[in-house]
Amino acid sequence: MSLPAVVRQWLADENGLIYECRNCGTTLDPSDQICPVCGSSQIVEFDVS
Ligand SMILES: [Zn+2]
Repeated sequence: MSLPAVVRQWLADENGLIYECRNCGTTLDPSDQICPVCGSSQIVEFDVS
């Protein structure tokens, strides 16, 4: 939860969703199934709309 709200909204997709790795906190593309940084499949989805 380190990103300001304005950045979160900028990163969010058209549905107002943002995807983040639960393990390392990297913001991911909606199409990512696995974190490219740490390889974790634990992805959390935030609704910022
Ligand atoms: Zn990760």
